[in-house]
Amino acid sequence: MPKFSQESFSKLSTCHIDLQTLFYEVIKHFDCKILEGHRNQVEQDRVFTDGKSKLKWPDGKHNATPSIAVDVCPYPVPDFKNLSDFVFFGGFVMGIASMLKDQNKITHAIRYGADWKNNQRISDEKFIDAVHFELVS
Ligand SMILES: [Zn+2]
Repeated sequence: MPKFSQESFSKLSTCHIDLQTLFYEVIKHFDCKILEGHRNQVEQDRVFTDGKSKLKWPDGKHNATPSIAVDVCPYPVPDFKNLSDFVFFGGFVMGIASMLKDQNKITHAIRYGADWKNNQRISDEKFIDAVHFELVS
């Protein structure tokens, strides 16, 4: 069974318990890597400048303590050009999230960064963040 690396484990531990519960379930079935949990001001400024986030500190969900967003991708990490590899994983995560919510194992719904509208379509999105998962309050 796949397991998180120490680095992934540390990053996931900066996240809300629902995100931890979700990804400890996901990795039993689908190997993955935690790219980012909590993001401090310097890190948020950097991703904003790079255009990877639309939000300035402290408005990002990664800026909360604990973080209410997490960036995760399949492992081994696919080529970033191959969006479908990331979205395939994202769909898998959303299925597990839906199941855990129904079982009351997590208390928040999850929104995926390739489906901001939460309508189970990615084709109608202008800004795709295919590694981003966040709690819906
Ligand atoms: Zn993110």
